[in-house]
Amino acid sequence: MSIFEDTAPRSPRPRPLRVAVLGCSGSIGTQTLDVCRQHADKVRVVALSVYGSTDALVSAAREFGARHACVADTAHAADPILSELPDGCELTVGDDALADLAELPDVDCVVNALVGAAGIKAGYRALAAGKVLAYANKESIIVAGDLLMPLARPGMLIPVDSEHSAIFQSLVEERARDIHRLWLTCSGGPFYGRSRSELAHVTAADALAHPTWLMGAKITIDSATLMNKGFEVLEAHHLFEVDVDDVRVLVQRQSRIHSMVEFVDGSSIAQLGPSDMRIPIQYALSYPERWETPSPRMDWCAEPPLTFGEADEESFGCLALAREAGRVGGTMPCVLNAANEVANEAFRRDACGFLDIERIVRTVVEAHDVQRVESLGQLDQIDRKAREDARAALAEVMQ
Ligand code: MG
Repeated sequence: MSIFEDTAPRSPRPRPLRVAVLGCSGSIGTQTLDVCRQHADKVRVVALSVYGSTDALVSAAREFGARHACVADTAHAADPILSELPDGCELTVGDDALADLAELPDVDCVVNALVGAAGIKAGYRALAAGKVLAYANKESIIVAGDLLMPLARPGMLIPVDSEHSAIFQSLVEERARDIHRLWLTCSGGPFYGRSRSELAHVTAADALAHPTWLMGAKITIDSATLMNKGFEVLEAHHLFEVDVDDVRVLVQRQSRIHSMVEFVDGSSIAQLGPSDMRIPIQYALSYPERWETPSPRMDWCAEPPLTFGEADEESFGCLALAREAGRVGGTMPCVLNAANEVANEAFRRDACGFLDIERIVRTVVEAHDVQRVESLGQLDQIDRKAREDARAALAEVMQ
């Protein structure tokens, strides 16, 4: 069974769609709230969470009249601002409470905009509880895809990531067996065209000036190393049940083609549009419908030519590393992700160089004895061990 193939007639979602926005203060979270604001007649925000941004939580809970609010970071549990939550809004605190939001009886759809491995449990519980899961937290699928995918019924797991939304949209009413391969587009990142010797000296500040997409700091660095694209290859592999090597990365500098599906008859279907994340976010909420959007329209007559090219996996070794981890499968992508989180964070505070991210991840991945994925608890342990190993590898790099 695939997530898009549905022989039953596609039934519309409940109206209003009752939504939980996990990670509502981040880049995807605030853009999700923007979509909810535009479509207040179709979407009702009932639950919200933040890590520690309690100001943003209170302001969103008041605006949308949320019934449930959660602060994941216990250090912010007693912030005075929380007394200003609206009447009747239940406040909970901690990681377990955050995952509880994913299975509330008054929620139809969970938007998982959490960053990193922290979002896996919530995604798992949302699917297990039969909720629609609109997810931007790609770690859920990369790390725990072996556990999550069997729970995903057609139309219930919708990617928010622009590339995967494009592929999903290109596959509506198509059959999994007709896919020849996927073309995953890539802007090339801020360091496109640079050699390895040039990459050795780039800084986090250089990377944070991303050319086309406005995103959080962690994913912006992952876009610069192309680790993000590597993760997206693994995500597409799980989501659409296509071999890792049948997911081709295509550099499309203008970021107008958001990805394509090539079918067995030689036809390719793509989704194109502005580089505005609110469009894929909205599609995840509106599916199987389409709604109006205030996003600026494309004038294709005025667009510069679209260009295509191959990604440089030699200079940007993280992409090759991710693909390799995907071929091995099992617990390897979990280790890849955990080591990358440590190295990415170290680079952001100038504790290591750009190419050290790849070195650290490679060291940790190469030392890992792969296992079959059996439970979230097992993945949690492996994640922790990989982070320790990554910190040791970082210490060595820093010497
Ligand atoms: Mg993406």
